[in-house]
Amino acid sequence: MFLLARLSLSVVPTRRLLPACRALRTTATLKADLPDSEDGWRTVLSPNQFAVLRGSATEPPGFSEQYKTKYPSEGAYACVGCGAPLYYARQKFNSGCGWPAFYDGVPGAIEERPDADGSRVEIVCATCEGHLGHVFKGEGFPTPTDERHCVNGICLRYEPTAEQPAEVQAIPALTPRQIPD
Ligand SMILES: [Zn+2]
Repeated sequence: MFLLARLSLSVVPTRRLLPACRALRTTATLKADLPDSEDGWRTVLSPNQFAVLRGSATEPPGFSEQYKTKYPSEGAYACVGCGAPLYYARQKFNSGCGWPAFYDGVPGAIEERPDADGSRVEIVCATCEGHLGHVFKGEGFPTPTDERHCVNGICLRYEPTAEQPAEVQAIPALTPRQIPD
């Protein structure tokens, strides 16, 4: 992921756009309520959130408070743009890469878009099409998928009471390692 200078390190309060119950609504309902212009998005996202979700910027490594320290066993992470649940808590693992990492996402919640040059695969929220980060496959992580969804933490809102399927496996003892450039 590239560090873009326009994303400052300043802490911008996350405006709570949507109520917690939003995660229970359907994708169609969520889409109906989304801003229909970039100016509209600017009114519901912080400047840093806008730079990442709508401008495909990348937060600096280690920027997100959700990196390293937060590996909850319950809950889910929702898109700050639209409220759609994106990742279950137990899908999060410590990759050592500097950004929140997940081995899989909520089924149907994330869309993969290969870069034009074939070098990387972008991931976006399937509901609001906000840029989340990139997915890397086959790196050798001992997870159920050996995929690393490398996500800008600023795109995510942790919802501790969101339901999580019992079959989603946690990866409790994974030793982090540095991802080669
Ligand atoms: Zn979204």
